[in-house]
Amino acid sequence: MYAIAIDGPAGAGKSTVSRIVAKEIGFLYVDTGALYRAVAYSVLQNKIEPTDSKAVCALLPHMEVRLGYEDGEQQVYLNKENVTDMLRTPRVSAAASAVSSFGPVREFLFSQQKDIARENNIIMDGRDIGTVVLPNAQVKIYLTATAEERAGRRFDELRQKGENIAFDTVLADIRKRDENDMNRKVSPLRQAPDAIVVDTSQMDFMQSVQAILEIIEKKIGQGIK
Ligand code: C5P
Repeated sequence: MYAIAIDGPAGAGKSTVSRIVAKEIGFLYVDTGALYRAVAYSVLQNKIEPTDSKAVCALLPHMEVRLGYEDGEQQVYLNKENVTDMLRTPRVSAAASAVSSFGPVREFLFSQQKDIARENNIIMDGRDIGTVVLPNAQVKIYLTATAEERAGRRFDELRQKGENIAFDTVLADIRKRDENDMNRKVSPLRQAPDAIVVDTSQMDFMQSVQAILEIIEKKIGQGIK
C-alpha cells in the first residue's frame, strides 16, 4: 500500500488540495482533522468545556467516531449519526484545537487512522501524519503558507458560506490554532525531517495541486501507474 502524508498548519489548503490530488491518482483521501472535529462537536453537544481535559476524556467511552465513504467522499459518523456537515464552523474549529491537545483523545483516534492506511492507498492530511501516525509513508509533504494568506482564504470561504465574520477575527483564530498545534506536548505540529516543504503563499490552487502531483510522481510515479 502507498501512503502520502500531508501535514501543515490550519488553513494551508491541505484538505482541498489533497482531495483533488487523491482523485487524480485514484487514492483514498483521509481528512484526519474531521475526526478531531467530531470529538469536539460531541463535547460541545454535551455542554462540556473543550479545555476541561477531565470532562472531555470522561466522555470518550461514550463516543463512537467512525469514517465512511459515499461516492468517494469522506463521511464522519458520531454515534452512528452522519455529522459531516456540522463540523466546519469556527466554534468547532476552536474546540477541535483544544481537545486535540489531550493524549487520550489522540489515542482514541489513532488506531482508526492506522487501520485505514493498512487497507488502502491513501493521502492522509493532518498535523502529525508524517511524524506519528504514518512515519513510514513513502511521500511526506509539509504544506504551509503565511498566517495572513491562510486567514484570507478561510475568510473568503466563510463569507461565501454566508458567515458574517471579520478578517481580524479569522486571523486571530488561525494564530491561536497555530500556537496550540505547534506547542502542545503530545504530537505537536512539526515538519518531519524527511518531509518536502511546499509553501503555497504565492501559489494559486491549481499550482499547489500541480506542485504536489510532481512530488508524488518523482517519489512513487512508477508505483502508481
Ligand atoms: O485540519 P483541521 O483544521 O480540520 O483540524 C482541526 C483541528 O484538529 C486542528 O486545529 C488540530 O488541532 C487538530 N488536528 C490534530 N491532528 C491531526 C488533525 C487535526 O491535532 N492529525
